[in-house]
Amino acid sequence: MSDILQTARTQVLVEGHGLDRDQLVEVLRLPDEDVPALLELAHEVRMAWCGPEVEVEGIVSLKTGGCPEDCHFCSQSGQFQSPVRSVWLNIPELVEAAKQTAKTGASEFCIVAAVRGPDQRLMDQVRAGIQAIQAEVDINIACSLGMLTPEQVDALSAMGVHRYNHNLETARSYFPHVVTTHTWEERFETLRLVREAGMEVCCGGIIGLGETVEQRAEMAAQLAAVEPDEVPLNFLNPRPGTPLADREPLDGADALRTVAAFRLAMPRTVLRFAGGREITLGDLGARQGLLGGINAVIVGNYLTTLGRPAESDIDLLGELQMPIKALNETL
Ligand code: SF4
Repeated sequence: MSDILQTARTQVLVEGHGLDRDQLVEVLRLPDEDVPALLELAHEVRMAWCGPEVEVEGIVSLKTGGCPEDCHFCSQSGQFQSPVRSVWLNIPELVEAAKQTAKTGASEFCIVAAVRGPDQRLMDQVRAGIQAIQAEVDINIACSLGMLTPEQVDALSAMGVHRYNHNLETARSYFPHVVTTHTWEERFETLRLVREAGMEVCCGGIIGLGETVEQRAEMAAQLAAVEPDEVPLNFLNPRPGTPLADREPLDGADALRTVAAFRLAMPRTVLRFAGGREITLGDLGARQGLLGGINAVIVGNYLTTLGRPAESDIDLLGELQMPIKALNETL
C-alpha cells in the first residue's frame, strides 16, 4: 500500500484527524491502480466517523436565472447567453415541492435563489414560504440565498432556517479566475456570520473549473478549516453559453479520487454528491461515491439540469443497506 494511504489509515481512520493540503495533493496524485484502495479507505472513514446513514435532501429553486454575478460555471448568470430565463415560484408551488421531497424520506429541503444576496422582496417571499411549509410539512428547511448582511442572517435564523448553504466554489487562489463580481473573502464572511448565528453551515464547491490538483487540495483544506456541517461536492457540467462551456468534464477516476480526498480531509462532515455526478461518473457514480466516502444525496432534479429519478437513488440505498437518516436525528 502506498505511504500516504498508510498514513491516512492511522491519522484519519484511527485518530479522526483530516489530512492537510500537502497530504491531499499526494492522495489526488495516486495512480489509477491505487484508486480502489483509496475509495475503500474513504468508505471505512465515513462508516467509522459518520455511520451508515445517508442524508437525503431535496432542493427547489425559488428564483431561477437572471443573477447579476458572473460565476463562469453558472447558467443562471444574467451576464451570459445561457438558456435559463428568470423565473419565480409561488408559495403553493414551493409547498408542493417540499411535500414531494418529504415523501422520498428526505430530512432536508433547501430553498435556493439565484441572486448576489437577498433583497426585501426575496426575504419576504422566503418568510412566507417557510411559514407555509412549516404549517404542512415535517422537514428541516435550509436556504441558499447568496451573501447575507448580519440583519438577514438574524432574520433567517429567527424564521427557523436550520442550515444555510453558501459555497466557497473553488480554492481561494483560483477564485478570481472564476468570479470577478465578488470575492472569496466576501463569501467567507457570510459563512462566519451564519455560524455565529447558530445555523448549520453547508459549504462546498465545484471541481473541474480548470483548477490544478494543488488547488483542489487547497480547496479541500480551506473547506475543512470552515468546519462545515455539510459539504456539497459538484462537478462541472459545462453549460452552453457560459465561459466554461467548452471545458471537458472531469475524468471519472479523478472525480472519485476527489470524493475520497474530501472525505479524508473531513472525516466527520456530511459529504454530499451535488450536481454533475451523472456527467463525470455516469449511472454507476452514485454507487461508487456511496462506497467511497459520500453520505448524502440530492433526490430528483438539480437547479438547472435534470438528475436521476428520486426512486433510483432511494432503491440504491436499500440495496447498499444504508439507512436514510431520519428527520428526528437531524433536529
Ligand atoms: S453561482 Fe450563484 S451567484 Fe454565481 S452567477 Fe450563479 S446564481 Fe449567481
